[in-house]
Amino acid sequence: MAKLLRINLDSKKYALEEMPAIYANLGGRGLTSKIVSEEVPPKADPLGADNKLVIAAGILAGTPAPNNSRLSVGTKSPLTGTIKEANSGGAAAQKLARLGIQGVVVDGVGKDLVMAKITKDGVKFIAAKKFEGMGNYALIDKLKAEHGDEVAIISIGPGGEKLLKTASVAVTSPDFKIRMASRGGVGAVMGSKKLKAIIVDDTGAPGIKVKDAAKLKGAAADLTKGILSHPLMEGLKHLGTPLLVMMINGAGCLPTKNYSMGQFEGAQQISGEFMAETMAKRPNSQPIHRCMNGCVISCSNVYTDEKGKEIVSGLEYETLGLVGSNCMINNLDDIARINWLCNDLGIDTMEVGAAVGVAMEGGLLPWGDGKATYALIQETVKGTKNGKLIGNGCVATGKALGVKRIPQVKGQSLAAYDPRVLKGTGVTYSTCPMGADHTAGNALPSPANPEYNPTSPTGQNQISGFLQWYFAAIDSLGICLFASLPLLDMPDLMKHLIACASAVTGQAADEGYLMNLGVSVLQSELKFNKAAGFKSKDDRLPEFFTKEPLPPSGLVFDVSEADIDAALKF
Ligand code: SF4
Repeated sequence: MAKLLRINLDSKKYALEEMPAIYANLGGRGLTSKIVSEEVPPKADPLGADNKLVIAAGILAGTPAPNNSRLSVGTKSPLTGTIKEANSGGAAAQKLARLGIQGVVVDGVGKDLVMAKITKDGVKFIAAKKFEGMGNYALIDKLKAEHGDEVAIISIGPGGEKLLKTASVAVTSPDFKIRMASRGGVGAVMGSKKLKAIIVDDTGAPGIKVKDAAKLKGAAADLTKGILSHPLMEGLKHLGTPLLVMMINGAGCLPTKNYSMGQFEGAQQISGEFMAETMAKRPNSQPIHRCMNGCVISCSNVYTDEKGKEIVSGLEYETLGLVGSNCMINNLDDIARINWLCNDLGIDTMEVGAAVGVAMEGGLLPWGDGKATYALIQETVKGTKNGKLIGNGCVATGKALGVKRIPQVKGQSLAAYDPRVLKGTGVTYSTCPMGADHTAGNALPSPANPEYNPTSPTGQNQISGFLQWYFAAIDSLGICLFASLPLLDMPDLMKHLIACASAVTGQAADEGYLMNLGVSVLQSELKFNKAAGFKSKDDRLPEFFTKEPLPPSGLVFDVSEADIDAALKF
């Protein structure tokens, strides 16, 4: 059975334990949320010594299952005060799995900035004082030079060191691009422990052990074939998630001008189609890129400037929506440079984009000014008054500037889908145990499900509830969300995914496996939040979404409170 690695930064000691029975057969979000709910006092200060940072590979990490290696980072969030899990692609989950480690629990607080290097021989603590204040890109270059290019690096930038509530955790891909576990300020918790980086080196590791390799191989092949037969996959491969810009703009729910409009006149200039045309003309751009080995879709990209110098990898829909249309910025290069800056500082492009949108509404900087936005984001780690506002998210920014329209739930900004049109997504934003979250259950229309009307005020609790347990299970398996989408349109494929999990754990798994797993994850998260003091009144969108009609549709969010409260009643 995979093991649990405990790292204590007070004592600089570690222990590699057999997985405790209460955490058995869990991985990813399931494992992080279970450990946080069992081991962190619900009323703990998120940046205090009682909080823990839990990092976990999914149940299927490193196996032949497709897109299997998201890395979950769980903790009590300093942004929301709720339980939190943010996950990222990259190489770290596969390397941990090859070392036989399902999860890493970090507690205690280092005296000085430190790094932990995990190898087959154990954990070595390495002083990191010399890297204090260093951005993720320079840090990763230096660590790669010192530790070789077979390692994976999990790190924070200066945003995490300065305990900004937007701080994220960076994870390197196999080719040392940066991927981010972005949301909820998980990087600030890592910073509060004075942990600059975890280096995972799987050289000489025993490799992945599964209970039934033949069954796994067959089920993984069937699953892969089924996923690749879905029409969305080709589009994702060639345009990546930016393909959503024109779709969501066409549906009238692309956040624009701090969620005051659902369509952006500059949408085409930040679209996936325009981005693909731009990259085709630029040397060294890669429109097709994968963030982990074993990905069969390759939705990511490497975006370069006109001379072929890399600006950022990868430039994705949520950043285009929150930094782009939401702030009225229509220049792709400006957005890409802001994305690079956020990655380097180790802060969440989504929360920062929402905060800048609020700041623009408050008159702090002009709408659409990409250069001023870049300069303002640079201030986040300099300790200036305005920098601190943006660095601590949209609620901190809105309160300080007297802006009433703050697009958040439980303190976390919404994603790039306006809930007045996508009402099921609105129910997910409202009820997700982690604040407004798009990966927790985004209810998009699908040609395979023509009956579903995202604008109807009724029935949205059912779709949101279903998607929330489904994605809680997917996040626990460690499968990339994009590989899981075809299963929603072709439910027959779920049996292959369940067979993969059963082959890995050796546990019999029937057709209720995914629901049981997902519901149990949500229940442990809800239990933690309840004990932390959250009530159903916290499961509400800001009033402006219910009162202000959204142009051009004129829709408001009008799902009843009773329906919202019913979404996660299992
Ligand atoms: S589909 Fe995209 S996000 Fe998912 S694993 Fe592949 S590159 Fe990463």
